[in-house]
Amino acid sequence: MRIVRTIADLRALLRPLREEGKRIGFVPTMGFLHEGHGSLIRQSAARCDVTIVSIFVNPTQFGPGEDLANYPRDLEKDQNLCLEAGASVLFLPEVSEIYPTGFQTHVEPGRLAEPLCGGFRPGHFRGVATVVAKLFNMVQPDLAFFGQKDYQQTVVTRRMARDLNMPVDVVVVPTVREADGLAMSSRNAYLDEDARRRALCISQGLLAAKAAFDAGERSTERLLEIVRKSLAEVDSIQYAELVDTQNLEPLPEQVDRAAVLCVAAYVGTTRLIDNVLFTPASPGTGSAPTLKSS
Ligand code: AMP
Repeated sequence: MRIVRTIADLRALLRPLREEGKRIGFVPTMGFLHEGHGSLIRQSAARCDVTIVSIFVNPTQFGPGEDLANYPRDLEKDQNLCLEAGASVLFLPEVSEIYPTGFQTHVEPGRLAEPLCGGFRPGHFRGVATVVAKLFNMVQPDLAFFGQKDYQQTVVTRRMARDLNMPVDVVVVPTVREADGLAMSSRNAYLDEDARRRALCISQGLLAAKAAFDAGERSTERLLEIVRKSLAEVDSIQYAELVDTQNLEPLPEQVDRAAVLCVAAYVGTTRLIDNVLFTPASPGTGSAPTLKSS
């Protein structure tokens, strides 16, 4: 596995591979990697000839008062995970490499960035879309792998790739969970023992709603009620919403099309998100669709 830190070195490394017709897979991350990231890297390694993993804690997607300065880091562990999962290149740019002095051009996502997390983290998806567009331009991947856990991010990214004619397929990989169901997240490292125990009610509520859906429940209100009841142990709920998988608009009464039940909540000072997919045509599958851009 090669480690590169500059865009020039990355381009020099990838150019001959691209000319040889190698299929290039890309997994953008913010580091402090866990098996959720591992799953993305493994999928890329299985489907592509070359897999590039980036680790970049992107300052423009953090709001004031968020955890940018404290974001957890462990480069040695990350390197081992990347190597073991089959990455070919690890890209570790400095902030000044990505945002040199004078930087002033951003990607402004549209309506898809407004609901859910967008409502509580102003500017977050603008920062995400901008850095992902920049990374796509640097890596020029054929396939890019994103986790279902950050569902809105996958939708915003797919839309951006389509709208800006980026020739990349956005592949969404199912959420990897701890043995007890908690969605893996770098931010789980912030949880003390009590918070870790209480955080479990998020996945428990979502999975209970999913079980009810699989058993035939289609009422939006009743499915949301199951989740809200389960969330009693969190300190505050930012949102619990059942939305259309494509346009992220709330489903008024019934789950009559593909839907995603999304939650964001605070446990102590840690903000956690999670979601489950409902697919009325084939209940019980729950796997993320492969999203293609043209
Ligand atoms: P992050 O490092 O948190 O920016 O995440 C990098 C990528 O890993 C994003 O596409 C995330 O959606 C994905 N990811 C994070 N947690 C998980 C998980 N538990 N399962 C699958 N993918 C994940």
